Amino acid sequence: MRKITTIITIIIILLSTMTVYTQSQAQEIQPVNISDNLYAVTDLGGGNIAFLVTDEGIIVVDATYLPSVARNLVSIIQKVSDKPIKYLILTHSHGDHINGIAGFPDDVTIIAHKNLTANNMTFTEARTANLAENVFPSYLASLKTQMDSTADKNSEEYQALEQSYNVNNEYFTGLKTIKFREPEITFDDNYELEFGGEKIILKYPGAGHTNDNIIVKFPRHNAIHTGDLIFNGAVPYVIVEHGANTHSWVKILDQLYSENYEYVIPGHGELANKEIFKVQAEYFTKLIHKVQILKNEGLSLEEIKNKIDIAEFNLTRSADQFPINIEVIYTELVN
Ligand SMILES: [Zn+2]
Repeated sequence: MRKITTIITIIIILLSTMTVYTQSQAQEIQPVNISDNLYAVTDLGGGNIAFLVTDEGIIVVDATYLPSVARNLVSIIQKVSDKPIKYLILTHSHGDHINGIAGFPDDVTIIAHKNLTANNMTFTEARTANLAENVFPSYLASLKTQMDSTADKNSEEYQALEQSYNVNNEYFTGLKTIKFREPEITFDDNYELEFGGEKIILKYPGAGHTNDNIIVKFPRHNAIHTGDLIFNGAVPYVIVEHGANTHSWVKILDQLYSENYEYVIPGHGELANKEIFKVQAEYFTKLIHKVQILKNEGLSLEEIKNKIDIAEFNLTRSADQFPINIEVIYTELVN
């Protein structure tokens, strides 16, 4: 499988490490068989996907970041089973988990937390519009200017610029095809889906990553899709406006660790087991502790940001989020 991972500069949706595939490369992606009829797709870019094949149809968790990517996902799924996709569960309102909705069959029943529609309107659609109307046009124009001013059109530099231009232009085109559809089923705290001989338990554990983050439990498989309550190997996105709260987040992780899952499908990063709940909780508790100590010593927020070294946390991806994490924790300590 070939991945375009180098020399591409793409302005990301939410994650700063995104792999971009051509359609034919995406078609080669193999789902991971987690347990019996439960699968995960982890390498489409954006958030991780789970799907469960039953005699009555297929249940999918999360929608990817573009309709075209979701269409690739659907064809990957239908290679495993040609049963119809009946349910689409959305873990939360971030674009890399919901912007692919329009790539699913029109008659799929969408399930999500009751806050998701409002959050999409307030945050995700506004962000997408800004990308489509401002960020991408100016970024593409700057790439074009750089290409035009590169004399040697056969140079590596030019080719890298051209590749970056093409990838970003493709994403820019895709942005205009994003179309939200309101979930048919919403819930407040808990929802149980009984379908095709399976029971799936959906739960809103309180605000951690967002105020609409749900977890999706597959009891027969001892498995869980956590949405973005887990960023495996990356600095988590902690956005206060979206309801994020690190203290509540840690409590949720402690509870999930005690539930002894064998298989954990994180919102981002590699598939894991229950130890990942400990790892993610320890990241926050260690960072909270460090910020607290430095704040007690009288350091300003900026001084604290300079003092805490990300290298202590063994996380390399989405490092740009690290100072933001510190700022959120600092502010939470003040409040
Ligand atoms: Zn998210």
